[in-house]
Amino acid sequence: MVDSTRYGPGMDLEHPHIPVILIADDDPAIRLVLRHAMEQEGYHVIEVANGLEAIQATVRQHPDLILMDAVMPQMDGFRATSELKGMEDHYNIPVLIITSLDDDLSVEQAFNVGACDYITKPVNWSVLKQRVKRLLFAANAERKIEHLAYHDTLTGLPNRMLFMDRMDQAISRAMRNQENFALLFIDIDNFKVINDSMGHEAGDKLLISITQRLRETLRMSDTIARLGGDEFTVVLENLSEPEAVILVVKNLLEKISEPIEISGREVHIGASIGISMYPDDGISFGNLLKNADTAMYRAKDLGRNTFQFYTAEMSEIAMRRLELENSLRNAVESQDFVIFYQPKYDFKRGKCCGMEALVRWDHPEKGIVSPDEFIPLAEETGLIVPLGEWVIKTACAQYSLWKQAGYVLNNISINVSARQFHEQDITGLFQQVLQETGLNPAEIEIELTESTLISNQRKARGIINELHDMGLLIALDDFGTGYASMSYLKDFPIDTVKIDRSFVRDIPDDKEDTAIVKAITGLAEALGLSLIAEGVETEQQIMFLKDIGCLHGQGYYWSKPVSALEFERTILR
Ligand code: C2E
Ligand code: CA
Ligand code: CA
Repeated sequence: MVDSTRYGPGMDLEHPHIPVILIADDDPAIRLVLRHAMEQEGYHVIEVANGLEAIQATVRQHPDLILMDAVMPQMDGFRATSELKGMEDHYNIPVLIITSLDDDLSVEQAFNVGACDYITKPVNWSVLKQRVKRLLFAANAERKIEHLAYHDTLTGLPNRMLFMDRMDQAISRAMRNQENFALLFIDIDNFKVINDSMGHEAGDKLLISITQRLRETLRMSDTIARLGGDEFTVVLENLSEPEAVILVVKNLLEKISEPIEISGREVHIGASIGISMYPDDGISFGNLLKNADTAMYRAKDLGRNTFQFYTAEMSEIAMRRLELENSLRNAVESQDFVIFYQPKYDFKRGKCCGMEALVRWDHPEKGIVSPDEFIPLAEETGLIVPLGEWVIKTACAQYSLWKQAGYVLNNISINVSARQFHEQDITGLFQQVLQETGLNPAEIEIELTESTLISNQRKARGIINELHDMGLLIALDDFGTGYASMSYLKDFPIDTVKIDRSFVRDIPDDKEDTAIVKAITGLAEALGLSLIAEGVETEQQIMFLKDIGCLHGQGYYWSKPVSALEFERTILR
């Protein structure tokens, strides 16, 4: 039950703001004179005409004091006061009841509903001014004391007491909504050394700038507290994925380790962070704190400026992910990738009619890494943008070389992922590629998935129309796995549908898959789209596909994706 709206983080206790007085009275003439009196004292004034409006204005503007007329239409002053006293954020605003009913009963009623004082009409102005001044002073002192009791004086952050209160709230919220949250225990590395060598004043400054950095990095809604010394805690609510927690923690570590200037000297510090998760690592404040603390010591043992989850398994996931992300970043920088090509076959003519470019990571230790292992991470980190650009340029340049060597091919298919499609100037990129390679636009087919079209449909439509107008071909990849919605086929200028390999795998034996493939084929035919089956591995599959009128395929039956050199040797010949 602590009011932190007034003296929230960073509130300057030495320079209190100008008090705001709310005047609630249905008589405009009285409001006018009250306003005049209050403004004379240097206060800000808000006016309302009844009890209901008084409550609304209080919630909106949180005045420092309310002058409340007892008798008003709609809702009287007693009722409004009583309501306000029941509100968690407003119960401690002093209310001064103004009554013309100078009888014992209404005076008693005023105190009963929680008013601080009363004054009778006709108002004696100097008495009113004195009362207001006294009430404001008392309320301010009370808030100061409350603030001091619940906050750390050096940083203005919530202290252990308030933090406990906030944790209890977070636990009940999480329990009610069946959510997870993370508790971070942050300890500054080498704080003692700095404190001892540079003096306490320097240590204090350091703690204040760390507080600032925590505030800058975290969301407004995250609770930060200082438990004492160089120990801080943070509650991150609504974060269910460990990945999201990792992202926040990494940002924190990065921010904290930026050099800080203290007393004219540049100081480098770091932090060790321990993380416990509700409910997996505890469901009470005590256990969560204890476990986050344990994890923090493990982080320290690991060599500082790092973090650990309480659950070892989570830490391992986090470590692997971090390593992968780092090496992927380096790989993108040094272009440690190769493109493999998988032929597309026209099985009526029995010949190769093009290829799909499929990227691989040429890892110095692990060897060739499959895109399924790094494309999702590249998407998440945004690395897909430079990587995808490299794929597009390299694949088109290769295709152009094959063309110049005299091979007759229809087109090359290139996968473009959602983030790349939406974040990059993809039309500009293809324009540049067309110019550099001299390829005919109809020789490039862009493979998109339904999810790319669905996120931000309007924008997607605009981009696809532009690409289509440039003469490039658009293929809908993995068709059938997502929404398989006919509306996409009709609404977007799609040229080709790729039947996902999960449906092709079990044809012709699986009845359901057979029906789906037949339906997709019929749909494509009706809409005049070309059709290609992915993942074709057997003769029977080809027979079946031919039978129902699907005449193009791609799969291990002909070839796995292979390097450009191999493609030339075994497929093109
Ligand atoms: P995709 O676009 O559906 O690519 C087809 C995948 O099916 C390829 O896996 C290919 O090797 C595999 N495949 C082809 N024929 C057969 C078959 O007969 N049997 C079986 N079991 N599998 C077959 P790959 O190369 O591992 O690529 C996986 C996914 O990674 C691709 O799925 C695509 O979504 C993504 N990807 C690959 N290269 C790129 C790229 O350059 N950019 C983007 N954005 N995504 C890419
Ligand atoms: Ca594809
Ligand atoms: Ca596919």
